[in-house]
Amino acid sequence: MSTSTDTNPTSTPKEDEQQKDPKWKGQSRTLKICHWCAKKQEPGVKPFQACAKCKEVIYCSKECQVASWPHHKGPCKSAVESKKQLEGKPELAQQIAVFKKWHSTNVDLLRHAFICALDLGHNPTAATTNLIFIALTLKPDHATQPARAKYTVHNGFTLTDAEARDMLGAQGPQGLQMLENARQNSEFMRKKGGLGLARLLLMENEKKMVDFTTIVLPSKENARLAQEKEDWGEDWIEQLRLALP
Ligand SMILES: [Zn+2]
Ligand SMILES: [Zn+2]
Repeated sequence: MSTSTDTNPTSTPKEDEQQKDPKWKGQSRTLKICHWCAKKQEPGVKPFQACAKCKEVIYCSKECQVASWPHHKGPCKSAVESKKQLEGKPELAQQIAVFKKWHSTNVDLLRHAFICALDLGHNPTAATTNLIFIALTLKPDHATQPARAKYTVHNGFTLTDAEARDMLGAQGPQGLQMLENARQNSEFMRKKGGLGLARLLLMENEKKMVDFTTIVLPSKENARLAQEKEDWGEDWIEQLRLALP
């Protein structure tokens, strides 16, 4: 399944020049930074305005919002549509909220799993052509577990874009839309430098899609260092399972 030898002929040398880890401004609202220029919102001053459509990203100025729109248009539309699908489905919305908490508290481990699974320290372009699939199960005692410990990982593998499309196609149009959304966001990030976004497909019991999520990747150099320090190698899913709370 792994295609870590894939190369991306469209990748630019700019990726190599990037030293610092980029910030993923798709999380601009949580990080309190402008989605376009990454300016930090200081306390005590007028709060940045959120995108009126999706309310997921914030801008320091009208100028930044206008400049960002051609890039934000696609992801914005998907975000609005995903929200619409959750209307009148409190159970699903609740399940996704639980999952998002789990994901955000374990993001460093998931990122490391992604780096090792795709061997990004040696094949940095693999992030553009591949994603990883992780199957999760709610622990039997999940109700009494803290957010970060609600799920167990029981399976995982790498997928090419085409394989992911096949798999998500079976989930209906929304799955494909999420995949496309993640691809666009990742491309946006690569233009800003760095390796783009890790794209993770998380499913519960391998049948029902829980979420399709992205994690900002470190620079090429930092990916190499992370793998040098601790390489989970082929055994990444087992190592992830052991490392998770
Ligand atoms: Zn700005
Ligand atoms: Zn928006």
